[in-house]
Amino acid sequence: MATIFSRIVAGEIPCHKVAENDEFFAFLDINPVALGHTLVIPKKEVDYIFDIDDPMLGRMMAFAKRVAHAQESAIACKRVGLAVMGLEVPHAHIHLIPITKESDMYFGGKKLEISQE
Ligand code: 5GP
Repeated sequence: MATIFSRIVAGEIPCHKVAENDEFFAFLDINPVALGHTLVIPKKEVDYIFDIDDPMLGRMMAFAKRVAHAQESAIACKRVGLAVMGLEVPHAHIHLIPITKESDMYFGGKKLEISQE
């Protein structure tokens, strides 16, 4: 059975698309921890990100880098955080999380104070 992320790529489940190429797809997280929180996935179904071979993982990171630079301009943030979780959806993905002073970032239920200095 297709993963929920494959169904998003196929257009069966709506999403806010951020970017795509022939191999990868980026879209806004439905439950963002910060404005512009984006997920980058391979279109091909792979469960565990570190099962992806090195050349493809390199291309995925290059794609994520382009998305992160676009986020920096769009959201006026100096940095974009990158996380690999994979606790919920069994389809490899990278979280790209813009870090801004305005972001309400939480960790373990506690609001983090963000410094851009
Ligand atoms: P993880 O597997 O990395 O722990 O978390 C999966 C992420 O996917 C979560 O941040 C969750 O909000 C997001 N997510 C789960 N289902 C959907 C969905 O149907 N649409 C979108 N846009 N994001 C989703």
